[in-house]
Amino acid sequence: MPQIDGNTKVYGLFGYPVSHTFSPAMHNAAFQKLKFNSLYLSFSVRPDQLRAAVTALRTLGICGVNLTIPHKEMVVPYLDELSREAKLIGAVNTIVVNEDRLIGHNTDGRGFLLALKRGLHIDAKKKSIFVIGAGGAAKAIAFQLALEGVREIFITDIAQDRAHKLVSALNKHIPACHAKFVMSQPDEVERTVADADILVNATPIGMKDTDPLLLSARSMHSKLVVCDVIYNPTATKLLRAAKGRGLKTMNGLGMLLYQGAMSFYLWTKKEPPVDVMRQALLRQMRGQNA
Ligand code: NAP
Repeated sequence: MPQIDGNTKVYGLFGYPVSHTFSPAMHNAAFQKLKFNSLYLSFSVRPDQLRAAVTALRTLGICGVNLTIPHKEMVVPYLDELSREAKLIGAVNTIVVNEDRLIGHNTDGRGFLLALKRGLHIDAKKKSIFVIGAGGAAKAIAFQLALEGVREIFITDIAQDRAHKLVSALNKHIPACHAKFVMSQPDEVERTVADADILVNATPIGMKDTDPLLLSARSMHSKLVVCDVIYNPTATKLLRAAKGRGLKTMNGLGMLLYQGAMSFYLWTKKEPPVDVMRQALLRQMRGQNA
């Protein structure tokens, strides 16, 4: 803990609920490592209180916050400015308070890409990507992949209209990304996997032990890279099936880590101590699963 005094800078997380978050452990470990007189707290903010909470950032002199479920999209109208990514995605996971102006960023997609680069040494440029899911996480990942210059992006979701909407938005704003809609029927999904270099599960399917396997192991070809945004459990059924086939896999911990590292950089303009932040996350996970 820092020596809290009149100069301590306050950062935090707005969500509802927030009790299971790992973010305070990750950011406070980073502040301690760099000997910053700063503190990161989680705030349980009811949706009907979000506007008041955002206004209070200025009133109380809070330097920045992250946003999690259910606030990422709802917060947009309350901000003064959005980064390019946040504008495209239509959602914000980081607010920087800059001389009374509230600037919204979205580091989720960049977090995923950095995890891919640093964790698996994979550059998504020119690759064919298949994203399962068209919700918040999928949108952030798909737009960032599109900005990165991937060859094509396939999107499926059981909510077909949501997948259609995301595909249209991607093609409208970043035509070079060649986004394509895929029906969520198993045979369509498995046919598409055959054409993909990287498969990303951006649905919550896999969080529970009883969840089904999203696609059969035999549909995974030998060069496929399989990613899951889920980090708890660390190896979902999907990742276990891919590992069983000897494929490269990545869970969602890297995405969580690097989205946090980028928020940290946006707030402090200092290089985040990524290894310290990773260790803090792993400790939290071990604690929760003990
Ligand atoms: P979300 O907005 O609810 O989106 C999930 C989407 O997947 C929904 O459209 C859902 O449709 C769809 N879906 C559910 N089952 C499906 C299936 N079998 N096949 C195809 N589509 C299916 O959720 P989210 O906020 O994007 O979060 C998704 C997951 O990402 C969660 O597990 C979350 O914890 C994780 N996440 C991780 C990170 C990280 O840093 N690693 C960051 C953000 C989120 P319905 O709504 O109709 O069910």
